[in-house]
Order: sequence, then C-alpha cells, then structure tokens
Amino acid sequence: MPPPSRDGAGQHQESLFPVGDLIPEAEPAALSQDAARLLDVREIHAEPEAAASPRGRQILARFPQARLIEVDSHWRIPHLHGNQGNAERWVRVKTETLVLGVRKTLTSRPNGRSADWIAPGASNGCAMACAYCYVPRRKGYANPITIFTNIDRIVASLERHVAGQGRKPQPNQCDPACWVYDIGENGDCSVDALICDNTADLIRAFRCWPTAKASFATKFVNRGLLALDPRGRTRIRFSVMPPEDARLLDIRSSPVTERIAAAGDFVEAGYEVHFNLSPVVLRPGWEAAWTQLLQQMDDALPPAVKTQAAAEIILLTHNQDLHEVNLGWHPRAEDLLWRPDLQQAKRSQNGGHNVR
Ligand code: SF4
Repeated sequence: MPPPSRDGAGQHQESLFPVGDLIPEAEPAALSQDAARLLDVREIHAEPEAAASPRGRQILARFPQARLIEVDSHWRIPHLHGNQGNAERWVRVKTETLVLGVRKTLTSRPNGRSADWIAPGASNGCAMACAYCYVPRRKGYANPITIFTNIDRIVASLERHVAGQGRKPQPNQCDPACWVYDIGENGDCSVDALICDNTADLIRAFRCWPTAKASFATKFVNRGLLALDPRGRTRIRFSVMPPEDARLLDIRSSPVTERIAAAGDFVEAGYEVHFNLSPVVLRPGWEAAWTQLLQQMDDALPPAVKTQAAAEIILLTHNQDLHEVNLGWHPRAEDLLWRPDLQQAKRSQNGGHNVR
C-alpha cells in the first residue's frame, strides 16, 4: 500500500494529525545551495509525536513536497534499516529521506578522549557518506538523518548534567577549564543545521553555561553557523585528511581545502576550532601525503587559529559488516580501507569483527 501523502494524491493517515496543522505560521527560509545539494527530501518517516512537535512541524514546513509516512519507531523502519537493497541506493536514501523521532535516552556518557562527556545527540545518521563511517553499523544498510525533535528535553537534560558536575576540578586533555560535551557523536551537526534549529539551540544553550563547552566534529562547511554567536562555548573540530584520500572516502563532504580555509572565519565568529586528523589510512605514500597536508595547513591557517587549535589523530578502524555493505555501493573505497593482510583484527565490544 502506498504511504500517505500531504498533497492529496495519496490517502492521509488520520491518526497522525490534521493536514491543516502542517501549514507553517511563517514562510520557511529558502534552502541554501549547500542544503539543496545534500538534501532533496522526498520522504519523511515520522513518529506521530515527533511530527506534531514544534520542531517536527518546522522540519515538515521546510520540506513541503516530502511525503509524510507515519512510523511506530524511528529505530524500526524495515524498508530503510537492514534492507540490503538499500546498499545500491545508499546515497539516494541519504538525499531523499529524513526520519523524525523522539529521543528516549537522555543520559550523558563519560568519554575522556576529545570530550569529557558524550551528550545525548539531537540526531543520528548523516546525509554525507564517508565510506569508513561507523554510524551505520547499528542500523544496517541505510543511514539517513534521524532528527530528534524533543530538543527541549535534550537541552534540559544537559543543563541538569552540567549543573551536577560543578566546576572542573583540574585541567585535562579535553580542556583546561571546561567540561566538554560531544554533541555530535552519531552525525554531523553542521548538516543537521541545514534542516532545523537543533544545532543552533544547543550552541545557544552552551553559551549560557560557564563551566561547559559543546564540541562536534564536522566535514561540512556550513557558513550559516557563523551567525550563531557561540561566544567561545562551542568547539568545532574540522576533520581533515589528504585530499586524494578524501575524494575517495569522504563522499559528499566539503573539500578538505574548504574546511581548512573556513577555520579562520569560524574562530573570528567566536568558535574554538580544533582539527581531527582522521582517519589516518596507512597506504603506500601515506607519510608524504600527510606531510603535504600538514604543510598546507601551516601555510593556510592564520595565527588566530594556530594559537588556539589542538588536534586529535585517529587511525582507521574498519568493520567487516560495513566492508560488505560498502562493496555494494562503493567498492573502490574498500581497496584502501579493507586490508586484513596488513591490519590487526579486533573484536568489538558488541562482538563485531573489526580491523585497525
Ligand atoms: S560526516 Fe561523519 S557522520 Fe557523516 S558520514 Fe562522514 S563520518 Fe559519518
């Protein structure tokens, strides 16, 4: 049976909410060119509560042509998740599909690497398609963006957690003074900001909390974020790798040179800017390629970036299930990523077969 549509061409599901409720109170802002390149949303799968929420309505108004499909749970959408046929449509699914859900788990987990805490994220999934991305592992084959619409509860839980920590007792590698919360563990907040105000809401919240800082890694330059006035309380970590590797592996992301070139503007706009040198893929010529990249950064980055920047280096970890999925949509990447003859086998905590 075809899913319901909002244009009257299909049957509308009465249980969701009345069609008239979807008419936005104000004209939605036009999609930027970048948003249009990444997102041509045709289908929105929504939990009823998510669709009816203010954030859900903002998103539905932004994509008025999209077909609205009611789902019981954002985690269980059989023709999206675990559907092997979606490996061939990988990028199309990411471009044309959004999922709206209500986040149930609102806990902050300890981290201790680049962040002290992993915040309950406001999204899961990504419109970009990096071949090594670990985010799809839990969902199966397709991994479009799921936006969690209960951003008010996410911010409230973070506020309680920040208040509960008090002041940071001593500096650590995450930050000399603030508790650092990674707000983008399972997606890319710069791209989410093309869809709705979840990222903006988090940036605004953190600028009011004097003992904490938000942090997220990104491979997308969203200049719309420059207007959000983060007042030093949000750290953007631009991920970089040699451009020849990125062209093969960082599918749909901003070019590496653009990410480096944007760093100065983000510092000027009040962000901290760090770098993720990741993933480092060991292949013939990797040392020369990384040397060249670091030289390029040294030449291009203004002093204002260099004086405040730190970097995290992450070597590639890959996973057998993801390797098999990738063979269905981007086999050339696997020539670089899957080298079990050179790599060390590792059993992950959930029993997956990884190499690193
Ligand atoms: S940008 Fe990040 S979340 Fe998105 S596909 Fe790439 S690695 Fe995954």
